[in-house]
Amino acid sequence: MTDVHQHAVEIHEQFSDKLELTVEDVAERLEKLVGEYKVPIDEARRSVTSHYLDEAGMEREDLRGSGGNQEMQISEVDEPEQWLDLTAKVVDLWDPGHESIGQVGLLGDPTGTIKFTKWAKSDLPALEEGKVYRFSNVVSDEYQGRFSVKLNRTTGIEELDEDLEVGDNESEIEGAMVDIQSGSGLIKRCPEEDCTRVLQNGRCSEHGEVEGEFDLRIKGVVDDGMTVHETIFNKEATEELTGITLEKAKEMAMDALDTTIVADEMREKVLGRYYRISGPTLGRYVLANDFEELTGPVDAEAVLIKARSM
Ligand SMILES: [Zn+2]
Repeated sequence: MTDVHQHAVEIHEQFSDKLELTVEDVAERLEKLVGEYKVPIDEARRSVTSHYLDEAGMEREDLRGSGGNQEMQISEVDEPEQWLDLTAKVVDLWDPGHESIGQVGLLGDPTGTIKFTKWAKSDLPALEEGKVYRFSNVVSDEYQGRFSVKLNRTTGIEELDEDLEVGDNESEIEGAMVDIQSGSGLIKRCPEEDCTRVLQNGRCSEHGEVEGEFDLRIKGVVDDGMTVHETIFNKEATEELTGITLEKAKEMAMDALDTTIVADEMREKVLGRYYRISGPTLGRYVLANDFEELTGPVDAEAVLIKARSM
């Protein structure tokens, strides 16, 4: 099966009960974008999907993931836009703060906790704090390395008559900063409401070309001597860690006509230094809520050998 055909089959499956269409109709639209207009397949798929969403009067979040979902534990949620099933307890309900949001709060299972959002228009039953539910067909999202799940019109909610232990997913790591990953430094995020994805070459994977908003972030790799951990510093933590504020970073980039200078400078300031970092674990990242620099057993030679080999 060609790539286009596979995508066409999947798109068709998502709309087959809403629209009169054949796999060939879908494939033809995709083919035109990919073949004639040289649009990358992922973008073509988004465009064609948008077209059918409009036609069906549906929102993107109404779409089912294709095929059966994976039953996941909360700590396993580590990428955005995954369709999944969860069994979790409502640990906390927060003030929705916006009329488009029906309920917002925290879900927990033995592996940890995760934020959830339920849209007002999704027409789902009200969740109660302290109760355990089985959720089917929720979709994951990411904001600054923190994952959340969204409940939508297609989500199934079944109340379970049982209790569930809720794990604490705070963790602490201690070691040398051996690498700073790409996507660190001065970055731009999509300004669309509730999106905030990091732009790649000025493009959001969901909204295409947009005027991004500047932000600071470090995705760091810490080696504790046994294993490596990935950690994310948000804007405030990055400013504190490096002494480079967002304003300063923008000036540096403007002077150099290059944003990568910021990550380079940050790299120079932190590589090879020892830190103790603590915060919630989300997916494979430890979010650096708290950190301090240690005057550790700095074996600079060993650290540099390690850094070069990564
Ligand atoms: Zn976006």
